[in-house]
Amino acid sequence: MNLEPIITELFDEVCGTLRYVADSGVTGFECSPKTLETLAKWDQPPALPALPALSKVEGSEVEGSEAEGRVEGSEVQSRVEGPVQPEAGRGEPEAQVEKSRVGTPIMGEAAGRAAESSVEAPTHSPESLEAIRADLGDCTRCRLSENRKNIVFGEGNPRARLLFVGEGPGGDEDVQGRPFVGAAGQLLTKIIGAMGLARKEVYIANIIKCRPPKNRNPQPDEIQNCFPFLRRQIDAIGPEVICALGKFAAQTLLQTDAPISRLRGRFHDYRGILVMPTFHPAYLLRNEASKRDTWEDVKKIMARLGLELQKPGKQG
Ligand code: URA
Repeated sequence: MNLEPIITELFDEVCGTLRYVADSGVTGFECSPKTLETLAKWDQPPALPALPALSKVEGSEVEGSEAEGRVEGSEVQSRVEGPVQPEAGRGEPEAQVEKSRVGTPIMGEAAGRAAESSVEAPTHSPESLEAIRADLGDCTRCRLSENRKNIVFGEGNPRARLLFVGEGPGGDEDVQGRPFVGAAGQLLTKIIGAMGLARKEVYIANIIKCRPPKNRNPQPDEIQNCFPFLRRQIDAIGPEVICALGKFAAQTLLQTDAPISRLRGRFHDYRGILVMPTFHPAYLLRNEASKRDTWEDVKKIMARLGLELQKPGKQG
């Protein structure tokens, strides 16, 4: 029996339905950016169509998101669910894919762009981190400039494959002008070490660059003023994976108000970059039991980057 016409017809029907759902902006139904890209190109089906990459790996899917949703040159349905609602911050209570951007492991000196030759080169903005820092200047764009000691711009490998994004500087970071150097930072450093990496091999930044008074949650207008700089940093670095630490980082990057418990544990999309939300290290310090979940999330990042699990005692 010739199955070809039946498969083609079925495939057309599925594509038509997916296209209709995507075009009508229905939320709660996720099409991967790759799928949307495939659908956009889908005019004449070939004789035996290759199925679109809805769920090729680990039976899961990249959660599309980000207001602009531009993935590798193609427009993706935007899925903005509303403004970020700051509340619990680093005290979150409460939570897979596709797209093979996996390159070679990040190792030693070759960290940074080790994979450059083996994966398609990400498109890089010609803008350097230095230029972005210079543009930020002695920023007074929001009220946080009044009490801060130092701007915490971010640090690490300017071509890191892995970027950690936190919420904003605390007291220690404010004094030193460096991200994640306090108690939560020490835990983050351990997590990075457990991945077989050093801090200098990854890049670490925050959603906001100045410490809020008494470590209160960032306000929406503060995030709005500051986020464009992080966005430019992300463009300059071109990471393959972003690990969003905590609710503010995840919600801001993914333009959602979904709780971290629902976001964590699976990859999402930020303008073509994989985002793995996980619990904030400060939350983990108060909720030991959740470390297990974060470790699961971290292992997914490692798998995506081709990093090998460390033998006990070999970490750091
Ligand atoms: N918490 C954050 O979110 N960022 C830091 O830099 C330090 C603590």
